[in-house]
Amino acid sequence: MTDSSSKSALAIHWFRQDLRLSDNPALTAAVKVGKLLPIYILDDQNSGEHKMGGASRWWLHYSLTALNKSLQGKLRVFHGDATEILPRLAQETGTKTVTWNRCYEPWRINRDKKILTDLEHLGVEVISTNGSLLWEPWDVLKADGTPYRVFTPFYRKGCLKGTAPRKPIKVPENITFSDDKGTGAAVTISDLSLLSSNWDIKKSPDWVPGEKGAQDRIRYFLDNGIKGYNKGRDFPAAEKCSNLSPHLHLGEISPHQIWYSLAFQAHLLESGEDLDQFQMELAWREFSYSLLFYNADLPDTNLQKKFDYFQWRKDETALQAWQTGNTGIPFVDAGMRELWQTGFMHNRVRMVAASFLVKNLMIDWKEGARWFWDCLVDADLANNSASWQWVAGCGADAAPYFRIFNPATQGVRFDPKGEYTRKYVPELAGLPDKWLFNPWEAPKEVLDAAGIVLDETYPAPIVDLKTSRQRALDAFSDMKEKQ
Ligand code: FAD
Repeated sequence: MTDSSSKSALAIHWFRQDLRLSDNPALTAAVKVGKLLPIYILDDQNSGEHKMGGASRWWLHYSLTALNKSLQGKLRVFHGDATEILPRLAQETGTKTVTWNRCYEPWRINRDKKILTDLEHLGVEVISTNGSLLWEPWDVLKADGTPYRVFTPFYRKGCLKGTAPRKPIKVPENITFSDDKGTGAAVTISDLSLLSSNWDIKKSPDWVPGEKGAQDRIRYFLDNGIKGYNKGRDFPAAEKCSNLSPHLHLGEISPHQIWYSLAFQAHLLESGEDLDQFQMELAWREFSYSLLFYNADLPDTNLQKKFDYFQWRKDETALQAWQTGNTGIPFVDAGMRELWQTGFMHNRVRMVAASFLVKNLMIDWKEGARWFWDCLVDADLANNSASWQWVAGCGADAAPYFRIFNPATQGVRFDPKGEYTRKYVPELAGLPDKWLFNPWEAPKEVLDAAGIVLDETYPAPIVDLKTSRQRALDAFSDMKEKQ
C-alpha cells in the first residue's frame, strides 16, 4: 500500500482518440499532477450501432502496440464498460485526478458526462482538454450563436477570423509511471482480439500505425506531396494526398501539429494555393465534427428532412456487386477494390463510388456508410456521415442531388493514363485508355485483343449509366412533389 499523500499525486490519463505522447494536453496535465497511470479502454458496450469496424480495429491493434512501446510497456488496457471500469480504477488506486482529451461522437459525449459525474461524486477531479480539433464546435458559431450549416462561411468567417489554433506542445518530460494498478481486470492488447477480422491479410504494406508512423507520414507528405497538392489531390495515381486520415482519426498526430508543420513549410511552396487547399481540407474535418456535434442523429437520419420521402431501392445483388467491386463500371470497381485490399480509398474515388451507389443504384446512403465504416482504416463517425450525406445531397451544404457524377468520364478525367484503374482492375489492363472506363462500348476486336469477355472475365455494367441517371432524377422529382 502507498500512503495517501503519494496516492493523491497519482493521475490516470485515459487514452481514447489521442494515441500519442506529443501535443497531448491532457497527458501533459496528468504528468504535472504526479505519477502517471496510462490506460486504454475498448468500450464496445456504450458504442451501440457505432461500434468500431473491422479495419479500424486492425489499425487500433498496432496503434496501441506502438503507444505501449512509447510508454515503456506501462499502458493498462481494459475491455468493457468505461462507466464502470474508470470510477472503479480511480477508487482502487486512490487517484484524485483523471485526465482525457475530449471526444465528440454523441455516444461518447453521453458516456463521458456520466463518468464525469460519477468521478466528481468520488471526489476525483477530471481535467478534460481539446486534443483533436483546431476549433471546437462551440468556438465556431454564427453571430446569432447558432452553428453554421454552410462550409465556406464556417471556415472563412468562423475559423479563420476566430482565434488561431493553439501551438503544439512537446512530449511531457520526466514521466514517472505509477506501479499502483488497482485490482481491476486489465488485459493485454492481444486479448482485445482486434485482429480477428480478415483485415490482417488485407493491410497495405505502406501503413505504419502509431505516432512514429504518423510523423513519418507527414514528413513524407511535406517533402513529396504538398507541392502541387491543389491540383494533384484529385488524381488517385498522383499520390499527392497526405494519407494522414487514419492517423488523425486515432489521434496519433493532432491537427495542430499538421497545421503548424505546414505553416512552417509555407515559404518553400511556389504556390500559396497548395497550403490554402490543404488547410481547407483539414477544415472540412472540423466542419464535419461541428455538424455531428450539433446534429447527434447525423449518422442515421437525413439532415434535409425532404429526403425522408425519397424512394430508395432495396437491391441486395447490386449492393453486393458494389461492395465487392464487380459493378462493371471500372472506376467504381477500382475504388471499391482499393478499399477492400488496403482499408482506404482516394477521396475523388470515394465521391464517385458513393455517388454511383446512391444515384445510379438508388441505394440508401446509410448502406454505403455502413460498408465504409467496416472497411475504412480511417472510419470516422463525423467525416463518414457528413461525407455520405454530402454525396447523397441530403446533408448540410451538400452536392445538389441533380448533379450526378458520370463514373466513366470521371475516370477519363482523373485517371487519364489508367494507372490507378489498371492496378485494381487488372483484368482490364490490356484495354487501350480510350475504352478503359467504358469497356461495354468497346468494339469486339478491341475486347478480343485485350483478352476480355464481358460477363466472363469482367462484369458487364449492372446498370446503364444514362437510364439509371434519369431514374434517379425522376425519383428526386417525385420526392419534391411528396414533401
Ligand atoms: P488529404 O487530402 O491529405 O487531406 C488531409 C486531411 O483533411 C484528411 O486526412 C482528412 O482528415 C481531412 N479531409 C480531407 N478531405 C476531407 C473531406 N472531404 N471531409 C472531411 N475531412 C477531409 N474521411 C475520414 O477521415 N473518415 C471517413 O470515414 C471518411 N469517409 C468518407 C466517405 C465518403 C463517401 C467520402 C466522399 C469522403 C469520406 N472521407 C472520410 C473524407 C475524405 O475522403 C478523407 O478524409 C480523405 O480521403 C483522406 O485522405 P488523406 O488523408 O490523404 O486526405
